[in-house]
Amino acid sequence: MDYDTDIAIVGGGLNGAMMGLALAEAGFTVTLIDSQTAKSQQSPQFDGRSYSLAIASVRLLQALGLWETLAPNAQPILEIKVADGRAYSNPSPYFLHFDHHEIEEGPMGHMVEDRHLRPLLQQRVQSASQINYRTGVSLSDMTITDTHAQVMLDTQEIITARLVIGADGRQSQTAERAGIKRTGWRYGQTSLVCALSHDTPHQGIACQYFMPPGPLAILPLKGNRSSIVWTESDANAVTIMAMDDKEYLAVLQHRIGDYLGKIELAGARYSYPLDLTIAQNYVAARLALVGDAAHGVHPIAGQGLNLGLRDIAALSEVLSDARQRGEDFSSLAVLLRYQEWRRFDTTALAVATDTVNRLFSNDSSFLRSLRDLGMGAINRLPALRRSFIREAAGLTGDLPRLMQ
Ligand SMILES: Cc1cc2nc3c(=O)[nH]c(=O)nc-3n(C[C@H](O)[C@H](O)[C@H](O)COP(=O)(O)OP(=O)(O)OC[C@H]3O[C@@H](n4cnc5c(N)ncnc54)[C@H](O)[C@@H]3O)c2cc1C
Repeated sequence: MDYDTDIAIVGGGLNGAMMGLALAEAGFTVTLIDSQTAKSQQSPQFDGRSYSLAIASVRLLQALGLWETLAPNAQPILEIKVADGRAYSNPSPYFLHFDHHEIEEGPMGHMVEDRHLRPLLQQRVQSASQINYRTGVSLSDMTITDTHAQVMLDTQEIITARLVIGADGRQSQTAERAGIKRTGWRYGQTSLVCALSHDTPHQGIACQYFMPPGPLAILPLKGNRSSIVWTESDANAVTIMAMDDKEYLAVLQHRIGDYLGKIELAGARYSYPLDLTIAQNYVAARLALVGDAAHGVHPIAGQGLNLGLRDIAALSEVLSDARQRGEDFSSLAVLLRYQEWRRFDTTALAVATDTVNRLFSNDSSFLRSLRDLGMGAINRLPALRRSFIREAAGLTGDLPRLMQ
């Protein structure tokens, strides 16, 4: 059987591109396909998209030789403060406080802007000799047989591969075509996303206020700027998005308080309706799913991309170990090792973020007192606090080699 490529990856977003680089590094030939052109995915200005990358994710970027270029634009997260809040009133005094000095590994994570991360990935993918990068073309059909997988493109071209990886996001066509069903629901919440510039330095502190309609995260970016992920009910979000910038900032300032001094918008405003969507299986014959194609979770803990990066490190390890042992790396037996490794972890995080969102996104005084008591108690127990920090930094569980 003649193959055009060892592995065809459908979806060249952050996870698809990173998957391609990890596989090329492991010696596989890769065809990476994305329906958008590389340029249309980029924005040279800040476009609202930024990611809190956990320590484990930063290690993957280091292993793939990306971190050195990104580091000068990445903002270390030195402390995290979490408080129960109420719109138009100060956050509860019972806040959780996590400080990076409590662990040895350094900052708990870094904030990286999409405008720095995405073009770098595209550039590396473009220049990798093992990767055939195809942009502006879409998957239109897929067939899987005992011996190979074929990916049909909307250009009528057919790519024959041993294995297909679906990195095509929450509405994954690859999953659908392989008959993989999804579980999930809408949250009735929308995240309003923007960047702010402000008078007072953030000191590398990330804040999360739990408000009745949803959490408000204020995440430090390089310079006197912060990224805002402000979750509201769908109805509130429509009203707020309809406001002009001045009104929008006035509402936001009330919620944030004055610890950043005077705030101003540093770019456009965006909104993302939120849902949970988990594939019931992460693998099928000659197919594996990674990133949002496998699991799209609530952004409450900023872990969506981190989960995807852990999939990538785990899948590339499983595939390259299998090949080194002389196994057929595209066999279902091998792919099931990946599913076993990742499915429990991602489902546990999806359930945890869902539960925290339900527990905190309400105005019940009973639940509020319970939450405040819980936060006060955790704050007084250093061992428990440290285990929260290690979890958020992605340092717990069975870490793939690329993240060690
Ligand atoms: C408000 C908000 C804040 C967030 N904050 C964080 C954070 O702080 N930290 C963090 O870790 N995560 C965060 N996330 C999650 C993170 O943004 C996502 O998990 C991540 O971007 C998903 O990347 P992906 O490559 O899996 O999918 P996508 O970005 O959806 O990429 C899928 C790609 O597949 C392509 N595609 C789709 N269909 C086809 C087809 N048929 N043929 C060819 N190509 C196709 C698309 O063009 C696209 O490029 C946040 C999410 C939201 C909504």
